[in-house]
Amino acid sequence: LPPFPKNAPVGRVDDTAFSRYAGVGRFQQLPLSKKTKDGLRAAKFVSMTEIQRASLPHALCGRDILGAAKTGSGKTLAFIIPVLETLYRERWGPEDGVGSIIISPTRELAGQLFDVLKSVGKFHNFSAGLLIGGRKDVDMEKERVNELNILICTPGRLLQHMDETPNFECSQMQVLVLDEADRILDSGFKKELNAIISQLPKRRQTLLFSATQTKSIQDLARLSLKDPEYLSVHEES
Ligand code: ADP
Ligand code: MG
Repeated sequence: LPPFPKNAPVGRVDDTAFSRYAGVGRFQQLPLSKKTKDGLRAAKFVSMTEIQRASLPHALCGRDILGAAKTGSGKTLAFIIPVLETLYRERWGPEDGVGSIIISPTRELAGQLFDVLKSVGKFHNFSAGLLIGGRKDVDMEKERVNELNILICTPGRLLQHMDETPNFECSQMQVLVLDEADRILDSGFKKELNAIISQLPKRRQTLLFSATQTKSIQDLARLSLKDPEYLSVHEES
């Protein structure tokens, strides 16, 4: 298969490239960087799950996604891979600052995402930080947060940095991920989420994943997504 265009701009771009990759079954068949392919191979990820097969060709074209699939269906790689690929294609470096923000409802889930990012992204050179509430030293975080390329955070801690950290800078952010968006809304973070989204650049890609399709998810999608692909996967039982 021909390679995916390098530096493909963010936005709905190349439908021919998309249709070439729609329907492939293995990660190695996707137009990914060698660094990502090596990371996937090292972590022993071979065949895509259904939600990954459905969403990755769209997400890799820069499209916004609303993906719904039950817990355990592999939603994490459906956004970690596009985050890595977008920053790689943009040749994101240390001086470029925050390129992606991944928001998760709980510290535990954020920690699990961080582990997947470290594993699959280990051949990339991006810096990443886990910004969660609790015992971690927020003052030390404030000094370093602008040096990080990928932030994995809970809504409260991210908003704390947006409000309190001098020079907190995310005007160049390329990819926003809302993971377990239904749980973020269920845990009463709707106001925080709206405040966060209002401070982010409008020109970005947004990947929104949830286990369920509820009214509040539809509302959130309307507020945060541009002409999204709605992908809902219900596996046969
Ligand atoms: P979800 O976020 O939908 O609940 P996760 O992304 O946490 O699901 O993945 C659930 C489990 O499936 C994890 O243990 C993960 O390592 C595994 N997994 C994800 N994608 C694949 C894949 N393509 N091949 C094999 N295992 C996978
Ligand atoms: Mg998940």
